[in-house]
Amino acid sequence: MCSGRVDLEFVLRAFSNGIDGVLIGGCRLKECNYVTHGNYHALTMALLCRRIMEHIGLNPERLRIEFMSSAEGNRFAEVMGEFGNSVKELGPLGKGKGEGIDPNELKSKLAGITKLVPYIKLVKNEKLASRLENPEEYDKLFTKDEIDRLFSEVISYYIDPEKCQACTTCAKRCPVEAIVGGKNLIHVIDQEKCIKCGTCFEVCPSKFGAVTKISGEPVPPPIPEEKRTIIRKSKEK
Ligand code: SF4
Ligand code: SF4
Repeated sequence: MCSGRVDLEFVLRAFSNGIDGVLIGGCRLKECNYVTHGNYHALTMALLCRRIMEHIGLNPERLRIEFMSSAEGNRFAEVMGEFGNSVKELGPLGKGKGEGIDPNELKSKLAGITKLVPYIKLVKNEKLASRLENPEEYDKLFTKDEIDRLFSEVISYYIDPEKCQACTTCAKRCPVEAIVGGKNLIHVIDQEKCIKCGTCFEVCPSKFGAVTKISGEPVPPPIPEEKRTIIRKSKEK
């Protein structure tokens, strides 16, 4: 219905499924019938995705966004023809000029990035909400260095077993049930499930301050299950 509904994840999924090129068609900018102007969101998402593609070694020309009205059949045919030809020239995904990525490596890179989509959207939220009016601004919105940094400095969250008091607040608030815990049990983040939203960091009571942010470093291994029970001082007595 709206190009603004085309999530970054959809585009990454298309490439994960081996699609050689993705074209997003949106209504003309400034001509949206709704206050939401989803086509501007589609534009910033596509610009971000193109930089991500560069980061993982894919030619960003494989993703294009074009704006046209439903009355512009000729323009649609022209754009499709032109894009189809340019994708044919690029060749199969990952094997085009300047690409040369092993298909398995590409799949795992795309899977890794797809897992980070909620985090990427959160971190780049402000820029993704930009309304770019001038095509000259497109290239500058996300820079190559910025996107390289985004992935080298990915933030992870870790619960310090020495500080966790098993108040269960973080587990209740985690949107993806990534926190394993229970009454009197030190809580642990399942890093495979965590989408790095930062909610646990925000909600852990300051008197405990058990959740820490880790950037660019490996996350310590989780405390073994048999050592997770908290012995309260009153119980010890
Ligand atoms: S960062 Fe978000 S998703 Fe990850 S464990 Fe904390 S609350 Fe859950
Ligand atoms: S909110 Fe903090 S103290 Fe409470 S269970 Fe989570 S990590 Fe532990």
